[in-house]
Amino acid sequence: MARVICRNLCKRFGDGLAVDHVNLEVGEGEFLVIVGPSGCGKTTTLRMIAGLESVSSGEILIDDKVVNKVEPRHRDIAMVFQNYALYPHKKVFENIAYPLQLRGVAKGEIEKRVTETSKLLGIEHLLQRRICQLSGGERQRVALGRAIVRHPRLFLMDEPLSNLDAQLRIQMRREIIRLQRQLQITTIYVTHDQVEAMTMGDRIVVMRGGLVQQIGDPVTIYQHPANRFVARFIGNPPMNLFDGVLENKNGELQLRTGFAQYSLPGNLREKLLQRPATGATPVVCGIRAEDVAVGGMTTDQPQGVIDLVEPLGSDVFISVALGSDMVLARANPDLALTEGQKTPVGLNLAKIHFFDTEGGQNLLAPTFAA
Ligand code: ATP
Repeated sequence: MARVICRNLCKRFGDGLAVDHVNLEVGEGEFLVIVGPSGCGKTTTLRMIAGLESVSSGEILIDDKVVNKVEPRHRDIAMVFQNYALYPHKKVFENIAYPLQLRGVAKGEIEKRVTETSKLLGIEHLLQRRICQLSGGERQRVALGRAIVRHPRLFLMDEPLSNLDAQLRIQMRREIIRLQRQLQITTIYVTHDQVEAMTMGDRIVVMRGGLVQQIGDPVTIYQHPANRFVARFIGNPPMNLFDGVLENKNGELQLRTGFAQYSLPGNLREKLLQRPATGATPVVCGIRAEDVAVGGMTTDQPQGVIDLVEPLGSDVFISVALGSDMVLARANPDLALTEGQKTPVGLNLAKIHFFDTEGGQNLLAPTFAA
């Protein structure tokens, strides 16, 4: 399977850089997800790798060979798009067989490969149906079938699930994960949906404004976001952010917020004290909803007022006003908390993040030192 490298990859449209010096590497058989908000350059990056868009500067290597000038059909890539690009009046068999016919594969071999592929996707009973007679999920499977039938070295997928309803998306998401694990085809998958990125990718590339913000495995990105943008973009609900000031008092590092004063745990103290800042440093604090405890009985924690209760069944989201800050907690529904109720709010300081007030870099993430 293919190995893909992008080196300082740029795409300029007029005056703007849609893709700005992107560096990434996709290993053989890896499932890499590129995620980011609309317009961040993810589709353009994918289209350059496919050869459908010219490269303004930088290099794309497939298996150590620069392919900037190689025609798409010679890159041994299969693409699945959001709109499937199937022939609606042709039969499923003909749609899946098409890439093999284009390459002049013998008839017997085509029948064998189309049958194998349709079995793999559970659509062998649909081979004689026309595309216009299929449901969205079935069409999606045919599009996948057409992509995998010729055993490509590289799979590129651009928002392939976005036309499906919520339940079908989850089902197809699982099918794509299983298929990719089974076939071990190197895959680059583009989505704006952070849940897809988290659940599908071996590694995730988070992009914004043409720039790579962070590359890492889903757990690392969730637990150690490189900056404020990644902290808010990855994870549902987005990470809570509020202002604070770090103060060094006789070697004791303290955090002052609008609602409380905290003495920081030893490990955080060590990491933060390695930084050159002295005196009082304003920061943006970040904490995930599951690291905020509400409904307890302690008196040494700041008191908040519950502003909104959003039950999810397994959990409940509790928005709590703490002075002028609003913090969201993920709580147990058994606590039966109600709007307007007062509650102590505990922050798990072992899991708190501090972001630079200007650049938004995570002061505790390893990349900050680089
Ligand atoms: P979406 O999720 O909305 O598809 P995206 O992250 O895939 O967004 P791209 O389609 O790569 O974003 O577009 C990146 C930027 O480049 C956008 O600002 C877009 O308007 C611009 N752009 C894309 N294609 C062209 C083009 N052919 N000509 C001019 N600008 C373009």
